[in-house]
Amino acid sequence: MKAEIIAIGSELTCGAQLDTNSQWLSCELEARGWTVQRHTTVADDRAAMVRIYQEAAERSRVVLITGGLGPTLDDITRDTLAEAFGQQLVEDEESLRHIEALFTSRNRQMPERNRVQALRPESASVLHNAHGTAPGILLELSSPVCTIGVMPGVPAEMRRMFHERLVHELPASDVFVRRSVIRTFGLGESDAERLLGDLTARGRNPEVGITASDAVISLSVTARAGSAAECEMLTAAVRDQIKEQLADVVFGEGEIELHHVVAGQLLHQDRKLALLEGPTTGGLIGQWLTETEEFASRLAHSQLFPNLSTIGPHSASSAALNGDWEALLREHGRKLLTERTADFVLLSSPSTLTVDENGVRKQQGSVIVLGADLDQSQDVSMTGNLAVFRGRAARTALNQLRLHLLKVR
Ligand code: ATP
Repeated sequence: MKAEIIAIGSELTCGAQLDTNSQWLSCELEARGWTVQRHTTVADDRAAMVRIYQEAAERSRVVLITGGLGPTLDDITRDTLAEAFGQQLVEDEESLRHIEALFTSRNRQMPERNRVQALRPESASVLHNAHGTAPGILLELSSPVCTIGVMPGVPAEMRRMFHERLVHELPASDVFVRRSVIRTFGLGESDAERLLGDLTARGRNPEVGITASDAVISLSVTARAGSAAECEMLTAAVRDQIKEQLADVVFGEGEIELHHVVAGQLLHQDRKLALLEGPTTGGLIGQWLTETEEFASRLAHSQLFPNLSTIGPHSASSAALNGDWEALLREHGRKLLTERTADFVLLSSPSTLTVDENGVRKQQGSVIVLGADLDQSQDVSMTGNLAVFRGRAARTALNQLRLHLLKVR
């Protein structure tokens, strides 16, 4: 069944505020078997709002609207909703009592202006807002058949109202949806698409979607079927196919990150890791691996160096290295392996920024992974901003270690 979402507010259309409500609501609806076919963001513009509600109600069985329920003159969602469907606004007594009580509990008198928040279109019912002054609205239309739910714009209020008041009022979808996500590192989006072939074709069930974020490619497998069991069966088969096709490139499923996997491997194999991070990863690996005490228990040493001269006293041999920073880092890394009794060391280099004649900025750097029988270095230079470069570099180092640990387990 089809649904759509309308986000109201000039602060959204002018770019001052990101519309996160629609994204959140889409996930909630999709998980319940609804197909969200459209998001609309509209400024506080009376004529546009009226037209958009009418069109949405013609197209979709459920329409969810957020924002514009406040007491100020630009909060016109109530009025425009009534206008769009030819209704009068009436004062809802219970809402008025609730708003007055809220002000009394704050030792204030309700400003007259807040009275408008107790208005609703005559055939609508009110969605109680236990956490703010703006009640929501539930409007059931019979021609066209459409359920319209209106909620406040403030995300925390909207989410609670959706779960506590609105979701039970929506018609149940006759479709079950299951979505699982497979996380991969080391492939580009187009490589993934090529390797997966027909699996990613549109219109299949399950549908396989590819998204890239922070150098991680995620494959979402979404099945729609008449029962949860059927969904499970459909997704299981495709997940197995993907994992077989992409093999070690897959590092996990769901919300997992590469450092979770590596920390898990180190715990499982009772190994310890030392970190020597230069500006290429900028301490990112150390940050991630100290997220929990359990992860941190795997760290034998963690050091961030701003430049090579600050790593530590150089030995006679390193003095002879003549500016060869890779050799210098390796020498320090090898020392950490013995002095800190670490099984592995992750190192990242100093980084340099070059700008070519077209103004394209390139960050340059490398990562190295050392162990008793391991010495791998990878150039992680790329065009793009520093945060993306560092994230990719840190994940590249972790991924190299992950692949090694897979082999030796
Ligand atoms: P209130 O009575 O609390 O003002 P409201 O329904 O009138 O509720 P708005 O005034 O439209 O809500 O928005 C209040 C705040 O909520 C905005 O300043 C914005 O920060 C946030 N907000 C509104 N809409 C969205 C949205 N779609 N996504 C994320 N945040 C939003």
